[in-house]
Amino acid sequence: MYNIILVRYGEIILKGNNRSYFERKLISNIKDALKDEEIKIHYSQARIFVEPKDATKINRIIKKIIKVFGIVSVSPAVKIATDLSLIKSTAIKLMEEKMVGKTFKVEARRGDKSFPLTSPEIAREIGGEILENVPGLKVDVNNPDNELNIEVREETYIYLEKIEALGGMPTGTNGRGLLLVSGGIDSPVAGFMLARRGVEVDAIHFFSPPYTGPKAKEKVIDLCKIVAGYSGKINLYMINFTDAQLSIRDNCPKEQMVLLMRRIMMRIAEIVAKEKGCDALITGENIGQVASQTMASMVTTNEVVNIPVFRPLIGMDKNDIIDMAKKIGTYETSILPYEDCCTIFVPKHPETNPKVEKIRESEKHLNLEKIIDDAIKNMEHIVIGE
Ligand code: ATP
Ligand code: MG
Repeated sequence: MYNIILVRYGEIILKGNNRSYFERKLISNIKDALKDEEIKIHYSQARIFVEPKDATKINRIIKKIIKVFGIVSVSPAVKIATDLSLIKSTAIKLMEEKMVGKTFKVEARRGDKSFPLTSPEIAREIGGEILENVPGLKVDVNNPDNELNIEVREETYIYLEKIEALGGMPTGTNGRGLLLVSGGIDSPVAGFMLARRGVEVDAIHFFSPPYTGPKAKEKVIDLCKIVAGYSGKINLYMINFTDAQLSIRDNCPKEQMVLLMRRIMMRIAEIVAKEKGCDALITGENIGQVASQTMASMVTTNEVVNIPVFRPLIGMDKNDIIDMAKKIGTYETSILPYEDCCTIFVPKHPETNPKVEKIRESEKHLNLEKIIDDAIKNMEHIVIGE
């Protein structure tokens, strides 16, 4: 019997003068997420209402809406004319159809002050009707199984369920970042986390054919598609990294491979970011996890760039990252066993406490400028999620 969806947003209300900007962005993001659905959308008194043309599509539409950042929760609702007897009959029908357990309470809000009953009066009146007409129910105001909500406005909205959404800020309200995305568990989660704060995310991936195969590349595209399901369109830049890696292998000490590689990745990412209008890099780095991610290693990779590097997972436990990957749906793809360029030519015992002077010295044996230029010249651009 539901025919409309109520959408609540929280944090953005606090944003003072920016409020209407955030609201407009949020509404436009909802429209984008629902571009394949026939809906009407309108906004009134800090609520967004999404009305499907075909009410049977409501669950499918809700699944899409709750992925839009900036939304706190949604409720499927029945919209009816503001008329007391209609409110009564609809409330009874809804309780009969959707109630769980035995106890309930009624919450009423009167937004339309011309309605003859006050909010507590509406709640009492409708509560009484339900007790009389739906057998086996009891009122429990503290911990009810069912909370029937009645919002009396120009029209009246009645609903029972409240479905949690992801919160955060509407994508596109906080600049643009370039995510260094691997095929691993961490980087897609890092991209998701900044996207949830309103950042538009583009991505860059380094691959090394023929040492890394087409499946590894596909895996990264699939991961970006999943993230784009939340964040909207992602420009994915693919960098062929084979020559860079061969050059390091042939000219530098083996145990420095990982760090030298990562310093070149960061330099290339910075150039691409600046060229493509991204104001920061984003990585899935996490302190102490692996040799390349000790504090000393991070200091060494960080010193080659002059752009903020955001590492949203820096202090998280691996288990929490895995939980989050499962929740957002990237985990199953991330654990597919395809070789990443970071794992080829890598020694069993990479440097964990690098001396930055030694790394700089080794780089003198590389033609950095040419390596970087060539890699960027051959960059491939894939648009994801349009
Ligand atoms: P992830 O699970 O994201 O791969 P990880 O724990 O395997 O992370 P590393 O392999 O050391 O850690 O990579 C650290 C970070 O460097 C990644 O989170 C990612 O941001 C970036 N990175 C690693 N490999 C690549 C790659 N092939 N292309 C682009 N970025 C990469
Ligand atoms: Mg990795």
